[in-house]
Amino acid sequence: MTVEELAEFCDKAQSAGIVEIALTEHLFRFEQVKPILGSYFRRFPERPMRTLMEQYWHDHAKADLDHYVEVVQEAKQAGLPVILGLEVDYYEDEMDAVSRLLDGYPFDVLLGSIHWIADWPFDHISDPTVVAEWNQIGIEPAWEAYTRSLEELSATRAVDVLAHPDLIKIMGYRSTRSNELHARMAEAAAKAGIAAEVSSAGWRKPVNEVYPSPDLLSEFAQRQVAITTASDSHGNEHVGFQVREVRRYINDHGYQKLRGFRGRQAYDVELSSEP
Ligand SMILES: [Zn+2]
Repeated sequence: MTVEELAEFCDKAQSAGIVEIALTEHLFRFEQVKPILGSYFRRFPERPMRTLMEQYWHDHAKADLDHYVEVVQEAKQAGLPVILGLEVDYYEDEMDAVSRLLDGYPFDVLLGSIHWIADWPFDHISDPTVVAEWNQIGIEPAWEAYTRSLEELSATRAVDVLAHPDLIKIMGYRSTRSNELHARMAEAAAKAGIAAEVSSAGWRKPVNEVYPSPDLLSEFAQRQVAITTASDSHGNEHVGFQVREVRRYINDHGYQKLRGFRGRQAYDVELSSEP
């Protein structure tokens, strides 16, 4: 990643009417997390899925966190409208250690996400063995485990925003108890005082629905959980993806403000009247 590439992201964002973007690389892409989390998946019983997960994790833990932070700081100094963020996955029992590492860096915002349940990376939907695991685990237990992880992550208060809060719907498999589970997700965010992300990435997935679903966004709105917006672009391609649809969607749910962050301090931004 270079400042020039970031400038291109910003150009694209600004032409879509977006005034600021948060750069949120994944925590597990950095070599600095290996001493803390490098053997995390060993706690689960040995099986092919665990080997696959461990392999994936280690294949990605190669970037340098200091370098990432420096490039984003440089971009800020060059006047680009970016903030320094990170997407932090949930690691049971290890979030204090993660927070200690991250406290040494000047992050503006930390997103929190659930991308795997135990050793099952359920959103790796291009891998047939990962998708086949739905038959082993079952839809209801998967939703329950996901919801519990989201509650636990929220309770740690290690993050500021819940990214794609109902990612577990990615394949379009829905729980019959979604009302109850959505209420629990919203309650967890409200109790911890953290925001929820509205992400257009769901429209690019088999479920073909924005994160969070209308029902879950209503639960957030009812509890006055603040929101952020995201396209979850990996590279320039999807910067500002479906931004008008997102704008309409949040307006329809009564949201007139977005949450912003500087140095992990939250503040509210009024949405302009013109989408
Ligand atoms: Zn994510």
